[in-house]
Amino acid sequence: MHKSDREHAGLIRMSAIHGIRAYERYAGKETIRRIEAKARPLRDMHILHMNSTYYGGGVSQLLSSLTLLLNSLGIQTGWRVVHGPPDFFSVTKKFHNALQGAEINLTGRKQELYEEVIRENAMRNHLNHDMVFIHDPQPLPMIAHYRKKSPWIWRCHIDLTAPNPKVWNYLVPFIEKYDAVVLSSREYRQNIRTPQVFSMPAIDPFSIVNRELSESAIDERLAHYGIPTDLPLVVQVSRFDRWKDPLGVIRAFEKARREEECTLVLVGNVATDDPEGAEVYRSLLAHRGERVIIQSVQDGALVNALQRRAAVVLQKSIREGFGLTVSEAMWKGAAVIGGNVGGIRYQIRDGENGFLVSSVDEAAARIVQLLRDPDLRARLGHAAHETVRECFLFTRSVEQYLDLIGSFEPDFRLREMKEPSCGGSANPGGPGREP
Ligand code: UDP
Repeated sequence: MHKSDREHAGLIRMSAIHGIRAYERYAGKETIRRIEAKARPLRDMHILHMNSTYYGGGVSQLLSSLTLLLNSLGIQTGWRVVHGPPDFFSVTKKFHNALQGAEINLTGRKQELYEEVIRENAMRNHLNHDMVFIHDPQPLPMIAHYRKKSPWIWRCHIDLTAPNPKVWNYLVPFIEKYDAVVLSSREYRQNIRTPQVFSMPAIDPFSIVNRELSESAIDERLAHYGIPTDLPLVVQVSRFDRWKDPLGVIRAFEKARREEECTLVLVGNVATDDPEGAEVYRSLLAHRGERVIIQSVQDGALVNALQRRAAVVLQKSIREGFGLTVSEAMWKGAAVIGGNVGGIRYQIRDGENGFLVSSVDEAAARIVQLLRDPDLRARLGHAAHETVRECFLFTRSVEQYLDLIGSFEPDFRLREMKEPSCGGSANPGGPGREP
């Protein structure tokens, strides 16, 4: 392809910087004016987000868009990442797994390593911002090393339906130092002293994963990776992580394929803070074949192309804090089959805008049904796009961030917040304020 063809096909990287007015075409004038008005009194605030990776996983996707947009709204917003040796990330992945309900051998050595690496990070970061957002458990203990001069917020993106009490109880003293905790869903509410606010993530229609792609750009990406398009594509895009159940996806596909011809494409990346990814990827390779494509690559345009071209998109997770990939595929009008867990259940209404499944057999049956019925795919896909437009677009999430930033008293106490119509509620809890 010549350069001009690539430009035409929309493959040259476009700027990720979009002012809030660009979102008017998706969110409407009124929403944009409201966001501008809410941002105005916060201008020149200096705030910070900290997480554990710049690449791979939903949190880095969210922060890429959020930090740029908040800056373009006049709020000086920085993004830092925890540094640590592989051992550290191996421990924090175990914490992550345990918070999603897995067993853990919580030794003193693990706790020491975790706390020591964060102490080092605290020493080289000087967090004296007007507000600090700490994402997920990896940097959680940072707060223990500062004399707090502003509100600190812990944003946990994990599915906390049934956290392992060993790890949860170990982390609570850190969590309770924060002024607010933001969770993706009310169902993740915990029994802690800190006020809890609920807000679902959302997708940025301008990101490389979501922006519009021409048919020729889609063809080019698929051809680049040698993905055959002669049969309908069944696709799952996910980090290589057992919670995403890649093996269950392969089994469901193998079963469905006995009744309807199709090709499976499993695409995933390995986040820098997830040391288990490479092992999960390797464990799947024995299943590769002419009709089972398993690709480990970081290519947002490929994700975009696959979600647009797929006949069926799967997200067969067995735990899922939210699952951005679900909204991403729904936004593109795909027929999505999701695991009936965590945040996926807030995006998919079974039979209306996609399907929810709880087993390999159910997933296989839905794949077959969708492959046989293009009208059903179109109907679900249309409803799915509307769901995302109403509830899971970035502007809703940005507005909730602005509400939160503007809701602290001078003594860092969180004021009562208005409940949004969708995308999670924002209602501070904590003792005495529980419903
Ligand atoms: N993603 C990607 N390439 C991949 C796999 C995932 O760009 O190979 C992106 C995906 O499009 C989504 C994010 O990574 O934006 C994953 O977020 P999600 O909430 O679905 O899951 P998480 O990885 O945070 O558990």
